[in-house]
Amino acid sequence: MKHNTLSEYIKNFKYIVALTGAGISVESGIPTFRGKGGLWEKYAPETYGTLTGLTKTFLISPSKVVNFAFEFGKLICQAKPNRMHFFLSDLEKKGILKSVITQNIDNLHQKAGNKNVIEIHGNFFRWFCKKCGKEKFFRKSEMMEFLKGMNKIKGRKNLIKKYYEFAKCECGGHLRPSIVFFGELLPEKEYRKAEEEVKRCDLILTIGTSGVVSPASNLPLIAKENGAKLIDINPGESSFRNIADISINQLF
Ligand code: ZN
Repeated sequence: MKHNTLSEYIKNFKYIVALTGAGISVESGIPTFRGKGGLWEKYAPETYGTLTGLTKTFLISPSKVVNFAFEFGKLICQAKPNRMHFFLSDLEKKGILKSVITQNIDNLHQKAGNKNVIEIHGNFFRWFCKKCGKEKFFRKSEMMEFLKGMNKIKGRKNLIKKYYEFAKCECGGHLRPSIVFFGELLPEKEYRKAEEEVKRCDLILTIGTSGVVSPASNLPLIAKENGAKLIDINPGESSFRNIADISINQLF
């Protein structure tokens, strides 16, 4: 189905919600973590996908974490929204797409112009203080400069010092990324908002998400239970294909 056909079909709906996953950002140069060529092939998720794993590894041999953060962070900082991101921002401007629920942390929906983005897995650029809760949003240039700086520094102590300087909050506490790591709970407020949105919608678009990560994978089921239609747009494997009213196996 071409996008103009899709646009024609979806214009009859009043309250559309999109759920997006890693697949939508592949064309922007961010590979998915899972699957062939994904980052988890190179970096063990139990070490690099958990906060305790990352912290422990960083304190023992910080350069390992720096290499990982640099490789991944560079891709995110360089990425630009693609046609699918812009398609969604156009739908929002037309007033029929009410929100984008995303599992991505790359900030690309906002870059494309979407205003109502619910980030259930956090955002690479948004950090918060573990002590006082205050949030800080880093600009792309700040983040890139920090990563480049870290990549140049030699010596364990220097790396640790530089990191804690960067991650220092005004209150004296330490900031951490808002990214939801493996084993962590989803941000409650965001998830609740996502649930409300899928209960309200009359159409849910699942885009570039395999549907294997719970509880995000429950959202389309909640939408269906509440009478919404589902369009699954996914070039790869998707567990939503079975329950989709329309299935599109390519993004563009
Ligand atoms: Zn603080």
